[in-house]
Amino acid sequence: MTKSIGIVAMLLIVVSSALPQSLTTESFAKAKAVLDRSVAAYGGMEELNAIGNVSLRITGESVHRNQSRRPGDMDRTPYTAEIVIDLKNSRARQVQKGQYPGGFNWNNGFVVDSGNRTGFDLIRKTSNPPGAITPAIFKANTRWLPQLVLLNVLERAQSLRYVGKADYERRPHEVVDYVTNDGARLTLYIDQQTGLLSKFETLVTDSFSGDSLFETRFTGQRKVGKYIVPARRVNALNGDITNDFGLADVAFNLELAPERFKLPEGLRAVTFPTPTPVTKHADKIYTTSAGGYNVLFVDFNDYIFVMETPGNERVSLQAIEQIKKTIPNKPIKYVAVTHHHDDHAGGIRTYMAEGATLIIAPSEEAFFKKVSAVRFSADPDTLTRKPREPKFEPLQNGKRVLTDGTTTVEIYDIGKGPHAEQMLVAYFPDQKWIFQGDLLNRPANGDAPIANDTSVHFLNWIDSKKLAVEATIPVHGPLTTIADFRKAVEEMKVKAN
Ligand SMILES: [Zn+2]
Repeated sequence: MTKSIGIVAMLLIVVSSALPQSLTTESFAKAKAVLDRSVAAYGGMEELNAIGNVSLRITGESVHRNQSRRPGDMDRTPYTAEIVIDLKNSRARQVQKGQYPGGFNWNNGFVVDSGNRTGFDLIRKTSNPPGAITPAIFKANTRWLPQLVLLNVLERAQSLRYVGKADYERRPHEVVDYVTNDGARLTLYIDQQTGLLSKFETLVTDSFSGDSLFETRFTGQRKVGKYIVPARRVNALNGDITNDFGLADVAFNLELAPERFKLPEGLRAVTFPTPTPVTKHADKIYTTSAGGYNVLFVDFNDYIFVMETPGNERVSLQAIEQIKKTIPNKPIKYVAVTHHHDDHAGGIRTYMAEGATLIIAPSEEAFFKKVSAVRFSADPDTLTRKPREPKFEPLQNGKRVLTDGTTTVEIYDIGKGPHAEQMLVAYFPDQKWIFQGDLLNRPANGDAPIANDTSVHFLNWIDSKKLAVEATIPVHGPLTTIADFRKAVEEMKVKAN
């Protein structure tokens, strides 16, 4: 395999010099010369091709872009991971630990072996069903070090092109790009003096910021043994840092026992039911499963009310299709979101294009106005193709009631919580249900919910409001009775003591 990479690279050099002159061949030849300099800086082709496996530890911080307590903030929490990548045998293992604001701790990981990826959860002690992973996706997940990026470029050398010169971090760089196995175009900044890879970047479409630049920066590169290794690997979106990782204990070509790629002991294998496209909870009250989330919709006499717009336009289009199939010939007049996080509101622009009025928390109006105005020129969404002025009706005095005399929904702002500063819920007084997002999540297989600080805050709010509640319908997971909710909070308190 590594030999063949070398041979392909050599053939390309021979072939390129034999090709007739054109801007394409010129650009390729220039880019190849830059790549060769970088390969030499990392010890030469033979050294790179001899890398069979890499192990490393990450200690750093996750930065919660679009997952912070206030829109636009960048809350940080600790993140640690242990990673082993066996390039020779296409195997990998990653175990990571971190959290989202509000007590959402996670400790999970995955193993990749024999073309399958199996995820596991070390808090719940469960493993998910294995899923096929293509070699292209496997490679996309191995770009932890400059050497691994360069190995990928060498394999894809035919797609190399010269972009130009640029100053980055006040140092002159030569910039080349190539197309990865999975079709992404990555632009590489190679330090003109040292030949080291300072960063790579690519254009992406972000559900909140539209046309965006995603960067991976390698900083503090120094010699560890015979290898040059960066001290940090930092991700940034449009210049805002999204992951700030220190790289420790980087080791190449360790003896790896096959056990390294087995699942941890004592896990319970779980399976997830195929989601039902539409669930009718009561007359006029439904949820649709879109992109793995539950989206609430209510059939009023003259219009439809939707709550939650998770993910992105693709998820919204899927939800809207199901909603209109269930309730034909009525407009979606109102849409509400529980909070501004992208897994709850990332698809909001599709509903703006639909002409729906947005019922939101007052503190989130400025943020969503900004979202309505960003550019989506690379991958135009519906709002870009059919522009429409968004309409907002922020909650007043923390409450809004929608009713047609038969069906009633009360939308509440539950106030400052550990997960977000303003959170909306939808309460059905006749059915005694509450639709909520992130206040008590539950796995799709129906395993018991695990409460956290955010759930405790919500339960205290229900009790202080003296609301009669029999069950909550979560955005993440199946319906949960209030008895199971209280049990989860009790168990959390027992564990804490
Ligand atoms: Zn959230």
